[in-house]
Order: sequence, then structure tokens, then C-alpha cells
Amino acid sequence: MTRPATRVAIVGAGPAGFYAAEALLKRGGPVAIDFVNRLPAPYGLVRDGVAPDHQAIKSVARVYSRILARDEVRYFGNVTLGEDVTVEDLRARYDQIVYAVGAQSDRRLGVPGEDLEGSHAAFRFVAWYNGHPEFRDARFDLGCEHVVVVGNGNVAIDVARILVRSPARLATTDIADHALEELRRSRVGRVTLLGRRGPAQASFTNPELREFGRLAGVCPRADPGELELDAASEASLEGNAVRTRNMSTLRGYAGSVCEDGERVVRFRFLVSPVEVLGEDGRVTGVRIERNRLVAGDDGRMRAEGTGETEVVPCGMVVRSVGYRGAPLPGVPFDERRGIVPNEGGRVVRAPPGGGTAGGGAAAGAEVVPGEYVAGWAKRGPSGVIGTNKADSAATVELMREDARAGVWAGGSRSREAGDLSDLLREGEVRRVDEEGWRRLDARETARGKEQRRPRVKFCTVEEMLEAAGAR
Ligand code: NAP
Repeated sequence: MTRPATRVAIVGAGPAGFYAAEALLKRGGPVAIDFVNRLPAPYGLVRDGVAPDHQAIKSVARVYSRILARDEVRYFGNVTLGEDVTVEDLRARYDQIVYAVGAQSDRRLGVPGEDLEGSHAAFRFVAWYNGHPEFRDARFDLGCEHVVVVGNGNVAIDVARILVRSPARLATTDIADHALEELRRSRVGRVTLLGRRGPAQASFTNPELREFGRLAGVCPRADPGELELDAASEASLEGNAVRTRNMSTLRGYAGSVCEDGERVVRFRFLVSPVEVLGEDGRVTGVRIERNRLVAGDDGRMRAEGTGETEVVPCGMVVRSVGYRGAPLPGVPFDERRGIVPNEGGRVVRAPPGGGTAGGGAAAGAEVVPGEYVAGWAKRGPSGVIGTNKADSAATVELMREDARAGVWAGGSRSREAGDLSDLLREGEVRRVDEEGWRRLDARETARGKEQRRPRVKFCTVEEMLEAAGAR
């Protein structure tokens, strides 16, 4: 007798979801996978997060496209969990459910003035220039001369680069047309990145940092005084290639002589914003405090304020201090860490009054049978796209183990509820299936071809559904 296929719903068609599907398909055993994705278009951060001038990174979408084309895989785009389907609907139809929804929100700075007009979360800015339909109407006034970007990660680097890069070069990418128009009108001549710790603790990677040295019309600068390392930071370079390279690149930037007309990117360290300043509700600057580094109990170097402050005038602030997960209706959520609480990828429900710690579950936490999590929703917003491959494979290992033990979503292998497509038809949801996505993709790339660009994106859900031919 042939074994019935394990029916798996993967919520979220981004990198973590596709790597989970890949592992499920590779590890053998009959499987039927349905992707449930909020937006009409798949690929998550590869489409909406990776910077448009980093097309090489986006080429990984070809791997995802091949997975989508497999007979065992179906695509339910434009279907939102909690609106069009509930977790209960999924439990009644699938043997296993994987939440791979990424991190749909931003961390807050927690300083006064952070909500003034002109102070933005990097998360929104990135989604806007990438044509994410929910941010199509966001407004970024680039009429100011100086922008401050808070944070020292690769997202801060992306934001700074998009702000200073020549619009003519950006016009050869798949950047959203509305963003390109705004960037063409931009008067931004200076961008300052603020790192709360020192240059040896920055979390950006070296190719991203080095790229500023090669951008036409851009002058990267660092202050020599802020590149001096204390003994512990100096010692931390030992055997750490990224940090060592970053230091060398930054020391190179310390000698920069910028010319008139160049857009200046300044890297500052050991400074924290303590207040976003404004006038008539609009950003006029940031009050920053100088920090010193102190070793924490865990050995990690922490920033500690010295009380010495200065005001940095600017017309826009971008807060790039990390993404954060948002709760899914009906799915446990760890408020403190902004993730779905889990044990290695198995979703757990914390006991009443108990939180979870360290990515694992609190004592007494209960495993939710047949439900799993992968990617940023599992471990928090860290790592590059490829990091999700091993992460999702580890979750799939547990799924196989549970399948062998007969542990299923909702407690049993229920099949009576029927197919998800019927439920959506009843609800008159305009689902985009795989063919619909191929149509949408073809339309975008054809529009791109006319302009010698990889694609010209549709940036509203309505346009996307129209192009996909979704009924
Ligand atoms: P990230 O790498 O975690 O960086 C967050 C930055 O915010 C850190 O510098 C952190 O400083 C700082 N920060 C946090 N709280 C702060 C506060 N209250 N005040 C001041 N600074 C604060 O996160 P990300 O840049 O959002 O990137 C997310 C992930 O995506 C990363 O793994 C990144 O490498 C990846 N990514 C990769 C690429 C690429 O490969 N090209 C592009 C974009 C993103 P501390 O270190 O002091 O905490």
C-alpha cells in the first residue's frame, strides 16, 4: 500500500519557506505542499527586502521558482492567515503547518521624538523602495540635505547606499518607480550612520562596507578618533576576518578628502541617539550621547552613556535597529523576542504567565503538535538569506521525526474538511495560483525589458491581481 502524502501548509513564501519545501521534497516520502502567502507575489525578502542594486543576491529566486514548479507544490498567493483562512482551517486540512512569515515589523529606539514626521523605520523605507504594496503610499521627504541613519547593520548600509547612489544607476534596477522618482528629486547630500558601539562591534559585512568606496560621486568618511580601539576591541579582531577587514576599510575612509558635489557618507561610532529633535512636529536633528564600551557579564561589549551629548542637525532620521516579528492570529507569540516561541522549530505554547527564554521554551511549555516555525520567525532577524537553508532543514528534521511518531496538526490526520481552494472559493478570495504568479512575473519582466531593467514591478495589490489574472 502506498503511503498517503503528508499534507503540509507553509505560511509565508519567502526564503525560509522555500528552504523548508526544498528539504521536504529532498528528504523523500510522499509530500504535498501548499504555500499560503499574504502578498500576490512570492519570494518574501528576496523581492521586498534585498536592495534593488544587489540583483545578484536576488538570483536565488530561480531556485524558488523551480520548487514552485514541482507537481507536489501549490501556491496560494494573496491569502492572509487570520483574514482569509484561520489556523483552525489549516489544522483541519493539513498534517503539518510551518510558519515562515519572517519579521513583519521593526524594533523601536525608545527615545523621545521617535515618531516625529521625518523619523522612519528602515523597515518601511526598504519596503517602499522595493515596491511592497502596503508601503506604496508611504511618504519620504528627501528634500533635506542631511539624513541620519541609526544602526550599524547591513540594512543601515543598504538604506545609506540607496540614498546616495546615482539615480541613473538605480534606474537600471527593479527599484519601485515611485521611489526612483523621489530619489531623482532628492536633495540629500550627506548621510551619517550612527553606531552605538565601536567599529569593531559593527554588524555590517565587509563587501557591503567596501562598496561605498567604489560608488561614483560618493565619498565615505570616518573620524580617525572614533576608530581608535580599546584593548578588548583590538583583541576581538584576532581571528575575526570580517572585523579585521571592516577596520581596514574604515581606516581607509578616515583619510578621505571629499570633493564638492560628492555625496558624503559618514560613519560615526560610540554614539547613541537619546532624543529625536523637532520643530512643528518635524525632525530637525538628533541629540546623541557619546558612549564608552564596557564588558557585560556574558563577555559581550556593551555601550554605556558618558553623559556627554551633542546635537546633529538633520532633516530625516532612519531607525535601522533591527526587524521584529509580529504576532499571527491563533499562533503563540513571544512578545519579548518578537518570535514564535519554539523548541528548535517545534512551536510551543508558554504556560500561563510564563515567558520563553533563549529561543527555547520556558519550563512547562507545551509543544503544539504538528506546527513548526522556520527562519526569522523562529530565531529572530539575523543572518543572510542562505542562513535559512540550514535553519529550515533543521525544522524539517523534526517534522520527519514527528511524522514517524504520528504527531499531526490538530491532533490527528483529518481529511474531512476538504481542499483549501474550495474554502477560498466559498470566501471569494482572489487567490493567485502558480500560473497567476507566472503571468504576473512575465508582465513585470516584459515591462522591464522595454526599459533595459530586470523588471518593472507592479506596486499595488490590485495591479498585481490584474496582471496575474486572478478572478
Ligand atoms: P542587525 O545586523 O542586527 O543590526 C542592527 C543594528 O542596530 C546593530 O548595529 C545594533 O547595534 C543596532 N542597534 C540595536 N538597537 C539599537 C539602539 N537602541 N540604538 C542604537 N543602535 C541599535 O540588523 P539589520 O541591519 O536589520 O539586518 C538584519 C539581518 O539581515 C542581518 O543579519 C543582516 O546581515 C541581514 N542583511 C544582509 C544583507 C546583505 O547581505 N547584503 C542586507 C541586508 C540585511 P548592536 O550591535 O550594538 O546591538
